[in-house]
Amino acid sequence: MKSGMLAAEATFGVLNDNSNMEAYWDALRNSWVWEELHKARNYRPAFEYGLFPGLAISAFEHYITKGRSPFTLKHRKPDHEATNVARLHSPIQYPKPDGVLSFDILTSVHRSNTNHEHDQPAHLRLKDPKIPELVNLPEYAGPESRYCPARVYEYVADEKGEPKLHINAQNCLHCKACDIKDPKQNIEWTVPEGGGGPGYSAM
Ligand code: SF4
Repeated sequence: MKSGMLAAEATFGVLNDNSNMEAYWDALRNSWVWEELHKARNYRPAFEYGLFPGLAISAFEHYITKGRSPFTLKHRKPDHEATNVARLHSPIQYPKPDGVLSFDILTSVHRSNTNHEHDQPAHLRLKDPKIPELVNLPEYAGPESRYCPARVYEYVADEKGEPKLHINAQNCLHCKACDIKDPKQNIEWTVPEGGGGPGYSAM
């Protein structure tokens, strides 16, 4: 949120004072969000070495160096390349939501108050519309219909009974999981019109 606010301020400066967007990077580097992210930069990639090395490195970073280690660990591959084909895994049976601590997707989406103007261009588009049915569904068991927290992506039978991907972009929560995780990087995520998206009233 803070980086978005800084981006908006830098854009305002570009539009009004003819400055350039380098101002955004300067503001970001001087903000608390940069300091916070820098301190935590090695936590997640540490787990590339396994659970226990990851825990040990993270504890060392957190309690001893406090983010001042002279190295920065890297992820070995981008997230979308880490998705395996479905035949290498067994389906997971998740418990049903209890309605107290866990809730079904439609209830959660309703509570997020997410909304987009109906007549704006779709902000989620496929580069190649055939990839979901030719690759994602047969090889990866349709991961977009599983990781999306708002059930934006659904495989629905067409008039011939063949599964076809439907995109309910209206429900999108802007988490960007699909942009990062789609195995073939086929989803084009465009920023929607201003004001659209989730509106969590309790935050
Ligand atoms: S950004 Fe998140 S909520 Fe929106 S479609 Fe992608 S995965 Fe679903």
